[in-house]
Amino acid sequence: MNKEIIINTRSSFPKSSINREIFQSSALLALIVVAVFGLFLSTILYYSEISKAHTVINRTNRAVVFSIEGYFAEIMNTLMVLEENKEIREAMALDAEAHQRILDGYRSFSRSNKNIAFIYSGYENGLMLINNYTPPEGFDPTTRPWYRAAMAIKPETSVGLPYQEIKSKEWLVSTSRALKQSGGGYGGVVAIDCLIDQVVHLLAQHDEYKTEFSFVMDRSGKIIMHPDQVLLGKSLPEMKEAFQQDSNGDFTYRIDNVENFAHYSRSTSTGWTVVTVVEKREILHPIILQVLFLVSLTGVIAVLLGLAQSTLLSRRLSRPLVELDRKIKSIIAGDELYADEYVYPNNEIGIIAQEIGQLAEKELDAKTRALQASEETYKTILMASPDDITIADLSGCVIMVSEAANKMFGYDPEEGPGMSIMDFIFPEDHERARANMVKMLHGNYPGPNEYRAIRKDKSCFDIEVKSALIRDRQGNPFRMVLIARDITRRKKTEQQIQELVRQLEIERDLAQSNSLTDSLTGLSNRRFFDNALRAEFSRHKRSGSQFSLIMLDVDHFKKYNDHYGHLAGDDCLRQLAITLRTVVGRDLDIIARYGGEEFVIILPDTNRQGAAILAERIGEAMLKLALPHAKSDISEFVTISLGIATAADHILTDGSQLVALADQALYQAKKNGRNRYEVMPVTI
Ligand code: GH3
Ligand code: MG
Ligand code: MG
Repeated sequence: MNKEIIINTRSSFPKSSINREIFQSSALLALIVVAVFGLFLSTILYYSEISKAHTVINRTNRAVVFSIEGYFAEIMNTLMVLEENKEIREAMALDAEAHQRILDGYRSFSRSNKNIAFIYSGYENGLMLINNYTPPEGFDPTTRPWYRAAMAIKPETSVGLPYQEIKSKEWLVSTSRALKQSGGGYGGVVAIDCLIDQVVHLLAQHDEYKTEFSFVMDRSGKIIMHPDQVLLGKSLPEMKEAFQQDSNGDFTYRIDNVENFAHYSRSTSTGWTVVTVVEKREILHPIILQVLFLVSLTGVIAVLLGLAQSTLLSRRLSRPLVELDRKIKSIIAGDELYADEYVYPNNEIGIIAQEIGQLAEKELDAKTRALQASEETYKTILMASPDDITIADLSGCVIMVSEAANKMFGYDPEEGPGMSIMDFIFPEDHERARANMVKMLHGNYPGPNEYRAIRKDKSCFDIEVKSALIRDRQGNPFRMVLIARDITRRKKTEQQIQELVRQLEIERDLAQSNSLTDSLTGLSNRRFFDNALRAEFSRHKRSGSQFSLIMLDVDHFKKYNDHYGHLAGDDCLRQLAITLRTVVGRDLDIIARYGGEEFVIILPDTNRQGAAILAERIGEAMLKLALPHAKSDISEFVTISLGIATAADHILTDGSQLVALADQALYQAKKNGRNRYEVMPVTI
């Protein structure tokens, strides 16, 4: 059974960390809490603020209505008192004195109530009773708005539209009441113009909100009092529906892109509707600020809680695993100095992590012992090996050397370890050795390599090195084994063989050249001549160029040999060869020994005349040599006879025919007395 612990190296490089994951999930949870809380809080705050706003504007609205009602109640009471006055009612039938009494009464009322600007009454007969005012000619009170309004609403009191007095710029409103005549019908109207600056001022007042204000609308829905005078006389469509149904209520409306909350209530005495308004954004602004503040605060608290939770969880859950991971990594890396000072927490994860750590330690112990044992075994084998075995790390630092290697390089056993393998190799070979090492590490073993090696005494010798990599359990190389062999003797033998081969090659070349050269004269031999003649003849056939052949033979050479001896004969032939070389000067001309004391000369692009001239010169040069020939019948010196034949006009079909012709010419020359040349005319 395989008891080894297989460590997955992938786990050494986790893509994430538990601490980070715990923090992320805690923070996410916190964010969800914040979001839900924020939503909840916003809703509550929104509704509470809206409700508060309604309460506030309701309160303001009621206060304004109350003030207006109080204000007008007094005015209306006064009007009712005036209406009850018989003299005022029936002033049309009274004299000027009575009129003066009425006017005095008006004045005293006016003085007693500071809100009253004018008190007056008008009648259907055109009578107009008013202090300090003389109506113009033709003035008809029945055409005035206050008169008409009172008549229209009788017996109720009419409250007219506010207006601004031209001179004093004061805001006034006319209240009027029809006067019943003793006959039963209505014949006049009593009116009070009262100052309403105080009421207008009241509308601009606000309670809690800066944008809060009120305005007043009449029965028809037209704005009759507003802090902004531009809006006077206008109406709000949004309010019409609600306005017609109830005497008070809430509504929202938008004006100039500003959304407003409003509360309205109707004043029973005047029939007016008071609207109190606040801008929606003023209500929402504090809500947003509060929500933001609370959400931020909650967010910070949530992050702090997340951090605290992740710290606590990481200490209790992930730290033991991180420590275990560190321990296992250091065990894999072979770090024996790893100090396990961490106290594992007393929970399931802590206990499991501790147990796995102990298991890994045990495994490490067992492995270390096995490694030591196997290293010892290797060492013993290494020392006993007759081969030069060196074990080095990947940087080339020697770890172990065999006894044989120490002997080969002349080192003591303890000197090798720690040296670099380059210390054993001749410096000029270092670069090649390093390149081979790199190739081997890349799985590209270049095969046994030869280097020049250096002994401790600096002497050089040749080695052949075979190398291999030792791999760890994961298959990664971590050592090199190098087996070196002294190949000095083999190298020497190789050199000798190479020398021999070279010699043989020289001799072979020589023999080859000999096969084409005549050994006695150094001229081309018969074989070379045959080839050259064939080549020249085919050229002649192709191009039609002429070429000549001279064949020559030493006269009475048999006698020469007989008299002077064979060696002298040889020497004579050599002298003749030199002469031929001297006289026949063109590069393309070929001089060959045809056999015995016969020679041939191929003369390319040469006609009969040219060949004859050359033959003449050769004969003369031979005589000039003046080689004595005591037994010759024709001269005291050695002479030669020559025969000339020329290939022209495509008559010949073969080179041998030209040789035969030259031979015939030579024969002719011999016959004609020797020491001469003859030219063979073409007869074939
Ligand atoms: P001729 O040609 O004038 O008719 O008379 P010859 O005496 O020269 O007659 P022939 O050509 O028949 O004789 C050739 C002689 O040349 C025969 C041989 O002894 C001699 N000879 C041939 N080859 C060599 C050689 O390589 N060295 C020497 N020394 N003599 C040779
Ligand atoms: Mg001969
Ligand atoms: Mg001869």
